Amino acid sequence: MINLKDYNTFGVEALAEKVLIMNKQEDIFQFVEKHNGNKEFFLIVGGGSNILFTSNVRGTVLLNRLMGIEIIESDAQWVTVKYESGVLWDDLVLFAVQNGFWGIENLSIIPGTCGAAPVQNIGAYGQEIKDVITGVEYIDMQEGNSRYLNNLECSFGYRDSIFKRALFNRAFITSITLRLAKQAEPCLKYPSLREITVPGKTYSVSDIRNFVIQIRESKLPDFKKLGNAGSFFKNPELQEAHFYELKQHNEKIPGYKLEDGLIRVPAAWFIEESGFKNTIFGNVGTYKKHPLIIVNRGGASGLEILEFSQKIQKAVFEAFGIILSPEVNII
Ligand SMILES: Cc1cc2nc3c(=O)[nH]c(=O)nc-3n(C[C@H](O)[C@H](O)[C@H](O)COP(=O)(O)OP(=O)(O)OC[C@H]3O[C@@H](n4cnc5c(N)ncnc54)[C@H](O)[C@@H]3O)c2cc1C
Repeated sequence: MINLKDYNTFGVEALAEKVLIMNKQEDIFQFVEKHNGNKEFFLIVGGGSNILFTSNVRGTVLLNRLMGIEIIESDAQWVTVKYESGVLWDDLVLFAVQNGFWGIENLSIIPGTCGAAPVQNIGAYGQEIKDVITGVEYIDMQEGNSRYLNNLECSFGYRDSIFKRALFNRAFITSITLRLAKQAEPCLKYPSLREITVPGKTYSVSDIRNFVIQIRESKLPDFKKLGNAGSFFKNPELQEAHFYELKQHNEKIPGYKLEDGLIRVPAAWFIEESGFKNTIFGNVGTYKKHPLIIVNRGGASGLEILEFSQKIQKAVFEAFGIILSPEVNII
């Protein structure tokens, strides 16, 4: 049995029967050929920064370490780059920024691998990977063959994609291809970026990366010191009528109107208003600077974290009738 404590950013203990490192595509094909006929359980893991282990894994953890970066096409305006899925996401961002490519700088220092990035359509500070990804290659773990999905076929949504649904743990993503801009396309609409920048001033792509790093480091805990998986819940999206009904009783409720007319409300607001600001419950708690982040204060088990998250869900539901859905993958 192998302890998965070092393979998840919550730092919780869980045992797996086996951990196999996938360094190249042939390793994945071999696994499918040898083991999948027996329908052996397996779980694909990248950086473990969006997973909560609540029990042992009765099967094999496939650790993704496929490496490589390749420029596929380049002209005066655009560059198309293919990244193998085990490359660390932030190495990809750094590579883009150092080469002056625009489109993912606001996604700086999100932990984890490139392969997991499309799974929940990672997003931050006004950018999402769905806006730059052209396609995803994966190995179908049932059929044992390589497949390709273009952007539309990935069915991207807010922290969502086909890989979280129909293809969950069936598609082993092996590479992603992004189309990045060579001309400046700063995205500074997000409030904390607006606050830190001067309107009309020109910023380089690396200036923006540095701002994002500065903001993130001031707000988010370092998982190496305080186990966490970033935002634990998704921000609820409400019908306009529902939002204004809540607003009648809660004047200060914040909301952001989306293109489809729904209003996104920060889950952090509901959590704080339900009494979970900087709350401690045994080894678990909400992070003092951000109630949406659940932290392992040391020695917490996955079940303790899950139980705490359920207390939050219950309190928010009782106070507002809102169901908070986890963003983290609970295993
Ligand atoms: C401090 C902190 C801050 C964060 N900030 C953000 C943020 O701003 N925005 C954001 O969107 N997320 C954020 N996250 C969440 C997380 O970093 C991302 O979801 C990231 O993409 C997860 O990558 P990973 O490699 O660690 O995935 P893992 O946790 O290993 O896996 C996540 C899921 O994807 C599946 N998976 C992993 N690799 C593959 C693959 N190759 N093929 C198919 N399925 C796969 C796994 O089975 C699992 O279901 C944050 C996390 C932390 C700890």
